[in-house]
Amino acid sequence: MENLLDSMFKPKSIAIVGASRDPHSIGYSVVKNLLDSKYQGKIFPVNPKADEILGLKCYHNIEDIEENVDLAIITVPAALTPQVAEECGRKGVKSLAVIASGFSEVGRHDLEKQLVDISRKYGMRVLGPNIVGIMNNPLRMNASFAPHLPYPGKINLISQSGALLVALDSRTWVDRVGMSYLISIGNMSDLDFADLIDYFKNDPDTSCISLYVEGIKNGRKFIDVSKRVLEKPILALKSGVSERGSVAAASHTGSLAGSGKVYSAAFRQAGVVQADNLEDLFDKSLALSMQPPMRGENLLIITNGGGVGVLATDAAEKFGIPLKEPPDDLKNELKKIMPDFGSAKNPVDITGMADAEWYGKALKIALKHPWVDAVTVLYCETSVSDPRDLAIEIYEAKLEATECNKIQKPITVSFIGGEVTERATEWLQKKGIPVFRSPDRAVSAMSALRQYGRFIEKGFDEFQKFWDVDYEGVREILKDIEINRNGYVNEIDAKNILSKYGIPVAKTVLARSKDDLNNMNDIVFPVVAKIVSKDVIHKSDVGGVILNIKNMDELKNAYDRIMENVKSKIPDASIEGIAVQEMAPQGIEVIVGSTEDPQFGPTMMFGLGGIFVEIMKDVSFRIAPFSKSIAIDMINETKGKAVLSGARGSKGGDMDKLAEAISRISQLVSDFPEIKELDANPIMVYENGIKVVDARIILKR
Ligand code: ADP
Ligand code: MG
Repeated sequence: MENLLDSMFKPKSIAIVGASRDPHSIGYSVVKNLLDSKYQGKIFPVNPKADEILGLKCYHNIEDIEENVDLAIITVPAALTPQVAEECGRKGVKSLAVIASGFSEVGRHDLEKQLVDISRKYGMRVLGPNIVGIMNNPLRMNASFAPHLPYPGKINLISQSGALLVALDSRTWVDRVGMSYLISIGNMSDLDFADLIDYFKNDPDTSCISLYVEGIKNGRKFIDVSKRVLEKPILALKSGVSERGSVAAASHTGSLAGSGKVYSAAFRQAGVVQADNLEDLFDKSLALSMQPPMRGENLLIITNGGGVGVLATDAAEKFGIPLKEPPDDLKNELKKIMPDFGSAKNPVDITGMADAEWYGKALKIALKHPWVDAVTVLYCETSVSDPRDLAIEIYEAKLEATECNKIQKPITVSFIGGEVTERATEWLQKKGIPVFRSPDRAVSAMSALRQYGRFIEKGFDEFQKFWDVDYEGVREILKDIEINRNGYVNEIDAKNILSKYGIPVAKTVLARSKDDLNNMNDIVFPVVAKIVSKDVIHKSDVGGVILNIKNMDELKNAYDRIMENVKSKIPDASIEGIAVQEMAPQGIEVIVGSTEDPQFGPTMMFGLGGIFVEIMKDVSFRIAPFSKSIAIDMINETKGKAVLSGARGSKGGDMDKLAEAISRISQLVSDFPEIKELDANPIMVYENGIKVVDARIILKR
């Protein structure tokens, strides 16, 4: 079926509005680049003052063009774009690519909105503004002001930075990293990353979608679209991942959520592999565009040098695919093709005496063995073997394995050497096997293939709502707080809210006066007494918490002590009373929280509790809402995994109930967007079950 975005990315005809005869102008470059790249579609320059540009007939107005126009590339100044968009709309143009800058990036949100509004009116889609253009290699279409098309291949690179895109365009020729498309996405006034991912997931020329991301506007949409795309790998390099400084946050969760952590969590949820830097972006793009995903955890390394083998071993551990010792039958087979002093453990060291043929044999054995899920071949240039012969052996082994294996196994290669090695690299890469200059890069690229494999194996999380929650009950509580208490949620309210969403909490009541205590007939001792005041954030810091109270006398006594403590530390504190609550048995203390992220909305955090949580930063994040299985991933990403599974003879904790509670809270904060921050800190986790003993909710004002 015809897709409207074909008119943008695979246009049959292009008008350049603002085409120019001045060789220094962008309007000239775009026309010239289209001609130079041998674009086969129709090209219509538009300029009110010119009759001919670069040998092409020039139109004074886009509406003068008699034929259909799929795409208009707009190179006029920002202020003129609304008028041009209007004309394009009347003409029946389908897509606009707006190169002009001077929009939201300099504060002119109004102009950008005008552009989009006009386009919507006519059903046109907009790429940009503030872009370099579109390069479509299979179509030989350079609709941009970058000087040439990229090195051919199957990577589709979409960049938020135009300057970087132009620079990388040239780099592709030096590094021989092949691209099908280079797309400048600019300000994303209309089309954003999610739209392009959705469109290109079915593109036969694209086998890896790579993103350079500065910021994602609609985080939820990005996750929802990307997570469903399992047929193609998506890779992202995010810039600006350092901590967002100390955001004025009153909760633990708020102060721990830096934008880098939230983005990494979002990418994981979206099934997007992350790159660490530009070199890594190219390396991983190359591997993902050429090789099948790694389906299983067993990576085998074949090397002719011990040194590079150790470097690869370190890298494998660092990048999350630690090497394992192969089974005996595989080792025995490998032993037969190497000298006595070789090693058939992992890395398989076929020694410096190895010639190309040995490599070929070892690789064939490895690829055919069911234990092996992927192979990284390392080669140090020697006088015994010519790397060009080795390249041929690797390629042939791959062909043989392709025929006999049901599941294709990925191969990455690292060649270290001189000129001849470069030639071998070039040849092998043309055959679709990625070659890197160092063992750690070959392994890092493999780790991207494994991450993609894990996404495929896991599938995407479709959040299943809990239906046994009391949504209306929470609505009521929040309404009452808004009307009667100026939006301040105290500990008792916070626990009530959690409890209405099916989360076990320590039973808590409020005593507004000492007299109230006398009327509390059904208290089961021991209890805990805590200050309730909107002016006290960390209750225990001001002597506002007394644990293990055994009888009524002690409780009355505790009441007075807490009042005294708080009044001496914070004299002006307005005090609601004392919370009397069930003394929960000691468990493993964890923190579960939520904070509002500007891009992704409610975002959940998990960490082990205790006073060091903000120093250790051993916490994990996910964008709400999500199911229990994602909550288990969150726990497993922290030391919580070891502690809850029972380290050093301790009993461990109820991972299942905890994960369920995290998932339920993720639903709560999604159901009630007025919740700005939430901390359940601590939650006691027991061998069986959990209990929230302290909770805090801050509403948006
Ligand atoms: P804050 O975090 O404001 O200082 P908390 O209510 O979290 O105050 O209390 C401090 C500590 O006291 C908790 O981390 C927990 O170890 C313990 N605690 C609090 N409430 C209870 C309770 N109901 N049962 C058992 N222990 C509790
Ligand atoms: Mg607390």
